[in-house]
Amino acid sequence: RAKADGRATYRFFEPEMDAELQARRLLETDLRKALANREFELYFQPQVNVRANEIGGYETLLRWRHPERGTISPGDFIPVAEDIGLIAPLGDWVLEQACMVATGWPKHIKVAVNLSPVQFRNKTLVQSVSRALSRSGLAPERLELEITESVLLQDNELTVATLHQLRRMGVRIAMDDFGTGYSSLSYLRSFPFDKIKIDQSFVRELSSRADCLAIVRSIAGLGASLGMSTVAEGVETEDQFHQITAAGCTEVQGFYFGKPKPASELVHTLTANRRTAEVA
Ligand code: C2E
Ligand code: MG
Ligand code: MG
Ligand code: MG
Repeated sequence: RAKADGRATYRFFEPEMDAELQARRLLETDLRKALANREFELYFQPQVNVRANEIGGYETLLRWRHPERGTISPGDFIPVAEDIGLIAPLGDWVLEQACMVATGWPKHIKVAVNLSPVQFRNKTLVQSVSRALSRSGLAPERLELEITESVLLQDNELTVATLHQLRRMGVRIAMDDFGTGYSSLSYLRSFPFDKIKIDQSFVRELSSRADCLAIVRSIAGLGASLGMSTVAEGVETEDQFHQITAAGCTEVQGFYFGKPKPASELVHTLTANRRTAEVA
């Protein structure tokens, strides 16, 4: 970014820039050691099937337990891991661990894993997925891979070919953060996704903006006619839950049903009050 504003040479000598750069280098150094030091942990957040009123799957969310800095969220270290070439081994670890953990769950429960666009640039992604499945023994139908629209922005043909290869293995493909990209609709045309995850920004503004409800309703309708399930992300309140289900989304995910938790703390049934929650 410093280069883009044309002041790179000046900025280099600014003390705060120096501190920023140092912090970044430190993070990189720590990150390179983190996998070997077993500092990563997987958290899982339930996705609730509205009609069945039960947990249909969990999304895997990566956490880094830094020895001095405490828990660091993926938004702060995934981009760094991508930059320094660490996302491939890290992504492989996540895939394998997530599949392993899921084998201990009831058979109808799926596991979703986020993939970085950078993992698609490595030719070994299909191999990594098949290795995770064979090592864990998880049925491919129980694994769902979440990709963002940005994956389809890069080398579209190669990406789509890879997606088809994964699909042929029996794995499910979900489009994450739907509606935030530049041409969401054309991405839907490029691959028959199993699931659309409606970005949480639409859910957050449901009560304050009428257009958000209209958009969510349209996406749910679109998903239904394309044979894709639709998940609303970031559902935090009972109100949002009711609006989302009335809008026709097939699944909900968010703090209302549960925050991401380590595998050991998962309870695979809904708590009493959520179970009786009226479903439209
Ligand atoms: P995402 O895949 O869209 O994941 C959803 C994010 O929303 C998660 O943040 C989750 O904790 C948060 N969330 C869920 N429900 C609610 C809610 O009701 N309210 C609010 N405010 N937030 C909610 P998290 O865990 O910080 O992850 C952020 C992003 O980091 C993820 O967005 C995903 O893009 C990426 N990420 C996480 N784990 C991995 C991973 O293993 N590999 C890769 N490549 N990316 C990952
Ligand atoms: Mg996701
Ligand atoms: Mg998302
Ligand atoms: Mg996201």
